[in-house]
Amino acid sequence: MDRAIVLMYHNIGRPPKGAKLPGLYVPPQSFRLQMRYLKGLGFNVVSLNEIVAFINGKSKVKRPVALTFDDGFQDFHDNAWPVLRSLGFPATVFVVPGCAGGDNQWDYEYLNVRKKLLGWDTIAKLKDEGVSFSSHSMTHASLPSLTGEALRAEVFGSKAALEEKINRSVDYFCYPYGDYNEETVEMVKAAGYKAAFTTRRGCIFKAGNPFEIHRISIKRTTGMLTFAYKLYMYKCGQQFQK
Ligand SMILES: [Zn+2]
Repeated sequence: MDRAIVLMYHNIGRPPKGAKLPGLYVPPQSFRLQMRYLKGLGFNVVSLNEIVAFINGKSKVKRPVALTFDDGFQDFHDNAWPVLRSLGFPATVFVVPGCAGGDNQWDYEYLNVRKKLLGWDTIAKLKDEGVSFSSHSMTHASLPSLTGEALRAEVFGSKAALEEKINRSVDYFCYPYGDYNEETVEMVKAAGYKAAFTTRRGCIFKAGNPFEIHRISIKRTTGMLTFAYKLYMYKCGQQFQK
């Protein structure tokens, strides 16, 4: 099976009453089962570095799967990391540095719920424990609507802010809302990111485009059968470098 998979999670927890898009919440119990399943079936949970190595034909890992968590919610610390840590799984959290320690100000009106985001102290603690952090832009703006300095501030600014706080190189970018255009991609490359992640559905093949990496979204309604199906059967998502 010559392909890699990046799973995309948002919240690990139970949706509060009245929250729109409750599908973005994966119950902790399901999450635990999914992680055990990965281990039990011999998938190798790897870092994003290994995914990029796979794309470049430089990885020897069999059945690589990487785990990503968008937005940097507090429930990653509370519900996801204890499970991942006990299994020894690496994970990447895409944070929004301009909102760290606050809430999802970019969509709380629409979602009808304020979701707590990881603060810098918790981010530092998680980093020390082995979690990787990368950028999800400065303010979770839809980037194709921006140009010039405003776009630069989201892409370059978030990298600089995050690197200063965690004292690590920030190599990956995740497009807010999955929105991007040619100018966005050029800015992401110019800022020095090594790869960028979309919300496009599918798995990853060798020689794919590292700035349009597809992922597989795991939702509240993803039962174990569907989870297995997604891991084994997905064939879509081939996207080659130009
Ligand atoms: Zn997001």
